[in-house]
Amino acid sequence: MSIATLDGSLHRGCGGRYALQTETVTLRISGMAAEVDRQFYRCEKCAHENRTIEQRDLAERTATEKIRLQHNLLAPKAIRQLRESLGLTVPQMAELCYGTPKGIVEGWEKARYLQNREADALLRSLLDPATLERRAAKAGVTLPTLVTDGLVAASAPAADDHAAEDHAEPVTSPA
Ligand SMILES: [Zn+2]
Repeated sequence: MSIATLDGSLHRGCGGRYALQTETVTLRISGMAAEVDRQFYRCEKCAHENRTIEQRDLAERTATEKIRLQHNLLAPKAIRQLRESLGLTVPQMAELCYGTPKGIVEGWEKARYLQNREADALLRSLLDPATLERRAAKAGVTLPTLVTDGLVAASAPAADDHAAEDHAEPVTSPA
């Protein structure tokens, strides 16, 4: 059953009809909060309320995006690009994030979970070669040699054309 068909649909309990309503709710995600408008259905006769999975999901996605903008958190695609630019696998990245479960890291990349501010700062800090090496040593992660060389070259003053060759530019998605 789609969302559209619930509007005006019969509430079998009382014989009334459901009408689309909007409520303002504060949703908390990863320790942060955002106020969003969420739609739901209310029976016009008995005031019974009905909330669909789609309505909950939409409100949660809206809240996530609001929080992401508000706290300037990396987008899922940016997290994956960051990881791939370092030549890391998801399990390696998870180890570098103080042993965060790899399912969580995967969830960040697939927009299933939202990283909190601390995790976001940690992810960004891995772009610094010295920090990356320090974290890798502590976590027991072997960094890909080529990528480490590339990072050193990319962070050094551009002496020749080779330096930036493997340094992928961030992809900007159309607004
Ligand atoms: Zn009713």
